[in-house]
Amino acid sequence: MSDAQTLLLVVVVFHLVHCFEWVRADAVLFVRLGGRFVRQRPGDLVGNREAGFTWRSPLPPLSGAIVTVPWRFSVSPDGVYGFVAPCPERRERSSQTRLHAEFETMNTVEWTADGDVRIDGAVLARLPSEAEARRARDFIADLAEMPRARREGRILSEIGRAFDGERFDERLAAIDRSGRPVRAAAHVLFAIVFVICPLVSWRLGFGRCWLPMFAAVGTAWLAVGVLFHRAHRSLDPAAKRERRAALMTLMVTPLSAMRADERLRQGRFLAFAPLVAALRLSGGAERRGYVEATLRDLRFPLADPEAGSDEARSIEAWFRLRWARAAEALAREAGVEPDAVFEAPTPDEAGCASYCPRCRDQFTTDVAACDRCGVEVHVLAP
Ligand SMILES: [Zn+2]
Repeated sequence: MSDAQTLLLVVVVFHLVHCFEWVRADAVLFVRLGGRFVRQRPGDLVGNREAGFTWRSPLPPLSGAIVTVPWRFSVSPDGVYGFVAPCPERRERSSQTRLHAEFETMNTVEWTADGDVRIDGAVLARLPSEAEARRARDFIADLAEMPRARREGRILSEIGRAFDGERFDERLAAIDRSGRPVRAAAHVLFAIVFVICPLVSWRLGFGRCWLPMFAAVGTAWLAVGVLFHRAHRSLDPAAKRERRAALMTLMVTPLSAMRADERLRQGRFLAFAPLVAALRLSGGAERRGYVEATLRDLRFPLADPEAGSDEARSIEAWFRLRWARAAEALAREAGVEPDAVFEAPTPDEAGCASYCPRCRDQFTTDVAACDRCGVEVHVLAP
């Protein structure tokens, strides 16, 4: 194997390794492949209860990913609880802090650059980005300062923002628009590395052409960096530290720079409920399946063996009810009637006497709860 072939092989292997990413298990990802989005479930390839691998397209300029995550703490007019019950389509929850704090006795609320939200020094939740942690900190501090009577309105308005489909569309359009030059430069860089350089080496010899090839790669790489900086600044002028960190990641290798569009989208959809992304970006059976699983899981969540104090449980139940109402309203708007989602299924076979309202498994034997979800079964009409 010649030097040029060895180099190309190393680049291809590195590139393929870059196509996999370790993501928290509760993240809901959509990877753009050309004109459509494909849902990714962390852990479908390899994973555990907390996180799993997801893949990205091997053609990075075409593959920006959109990531949403569920809220990582429950909130009510009384306080916050570092636990959320819903985890649709999964059989066990990721670990959560379960920190319970009442607004009346709260002293300090802080955020850290690692994405932690801390209450009186203890971690309430680890959020996926510094910006999200800062936003959650401001929200909680705001609630703690206001009179109890005004808290419900403030929480409902925050839930409303998470379910605002029009805001989601506007953000998507703004990123598509600002990211166009970045994607164009990333396409050029990809073509130079994987098409032009190998062809030139093969026809003219690597030894004769390595300098112009390296110069071409360097120029395109630099162009991606400059255009990324400009696009990021137009989308979020205040996020200087985040921009600098993202730029440093992109400039590590040309292979990272090819994923500039992905980087531009990173963290921008975290504040939205995953259901909004699923309704906006997926279609057909995939979309319907996710909506149904979400609504059922909100009403009949997995059993919780470590149930907290009565006060903590009531915060979770209060929050989940409001979140479920917003989810059901959005589903109805999108043409999925929530009442139909909760209708009893037709028996799979004679003798099926009950079913699980969460996962829809049916049982012929006399069971009290579903063995997968721990949810109390419902009687199935014969
Ligand atoms: Zn079940």
